[in-house]
Amino acid sequence: GLILGIESSCDETAAAVVERGSLTRSSIVASQIGTHAPYGGVVPELASREHLRNIVPITRAALEQAGCELKDIEAVAVTSGPGLAGALLVGLTYAKTLAFSLGVPLISVNHLEGHIHAVLLAENRDQGSGTREQGIASGLPMPALALVVSGGHTHLFLARPPEGIAAGQAGWRYELIGRTLDDAAGEAYDKVAKLLGLGYPGGPWIDNLAQYGNAKAVPFTFAQIKPKAHLEGKAPRTKGATIAPIGGLNRHFLFSFSGIKTAVLRYVEVHGMRAACEERMKTLSAMPHAAWQDALPWCDKQTLDLIASFQHAVVGDLMKKTFAAAEAVGAASVLVTGGVAANRELRVRFTAEAAERGLPIAFPTLALSTDNAAMIAAAAWPRFVAGEFADWDLEANPRMVLA
Ligand code: ATP
Ligand code: MG
Ligand code: FE
Repeated sequence: GLILGIESSCDETAAAVVERGSLTRSSIVASQIGTHAPYGGVVPELASREHLRNIVPITRAALEQAGCELKDIEAVAVTSGPGLAGALLVGLTYAKTLAFSLGVPLISVNHLEGHIHAVLLAENRDQGSGTREQGIASGLPMPALALVVSGGHTHLFLARPPEGIAAGQAGWRYELIGRTLDDAAGEAYDKVAKLLGLGYPGGPWIDNLAQYGNAKAVPFTFAQIKPKAHLEGKAPRTKGATIAPIGGLNRHFLFSFSGIKTAVLRYVEVHGMRAACEERMKTLSAMPHAAWQDALPWCDKQTLDLIASFQHAVVGDLMKKTFAAAEAVGAASVLVTGGVAANRELRVRFTAEAAERGLPIAFPTLALSTDNAAMIAAAAWPRFVAGEFADWDLEANPRMVLA
């Protein structure tokens, strides 16, 4: 029951070996942060080149850490979308070649399904003793309302496990309940961090700095999404993400994060903070990326208050809509996953709210919140069991939707 997972949808090259969909035997992630940081965002051409360079050594390292060899692998699972076309292509081509030459099946996995399955995965590694760890959330009652909140997505799904392994019942079922109309929450974090002169990606910087500011200092608000808002104006646009018709969705479960980014920008302009932000950016750019962490660029109180207020507002909006949706659709639990699920304030407030409502809640371990391949191998397990394999002409689908 060993599945090798391969993930290359964005700026992380990752490989992992997972046993029976629930035990992480190894998980190796090569982040390209250092490559893209000077540009303040992911550069697609550079991403593909880095994936190409890393994919073989990363896979080798995953096998080594798992204490197994290629001949022990029973299937290769790969992210086929959504993501950057050129980046997906590297992982997909490699996974196909590997599976074909080993004579094992290839399994296609949606990146978002992977993020959801990260929650069900135990991170603790079995050191070859044969004891299998239970997924941290294996007891989570279903169906679960899943908030996937990352660099490219802010989506709510109602997720339920397969009812059996009979034909057509192989995979989990997902129903789209809500989504962002414009920017993803992680994208807002990244853009706000950039305009404040902080490093890339912005999430961890804002997470760290927010604890020193007063979250009540700037009263950011989210406007109600107007009825039919999603039918007028520009088409929904998210980074390499789903562009699906969203007509049937309840507007109370729709998100919009482009407004708060503009509000932060306006605040910076009005309060004459622009020069300080540019100064901070300049200082950081002159330093090697590895030194950024030690050189926390001290922000003045006004900037810290702004950061704390931004985060408080974003987390509050995510929380309000997620729990309202969970109640409306009768979810038995809530799960939060994707890069932004690593956020400390988000975890604390979601956990408290869930407790108050008596709803079980689960998050992936911190390491499995952001992109990794263990989640891809885990999501492939039900398909492996049911014999639902991909064809050899499987293509990358940058705009793949989950539901
Ligand atoms: P997608 O999964 O939608 O295709 P992605 O794979 O690029 O996008 P992830 O790797 O899951 O996204 O998450 C990256 C995002 O998470 C970035 O936007 C980053 O700023 C954000 N992020 C990471 N850590 C934190 C944190 N502690 N607080 C808030 N945001 C965070
Ligand atoms: Mg990433
Ligand atoms: Fe992701």
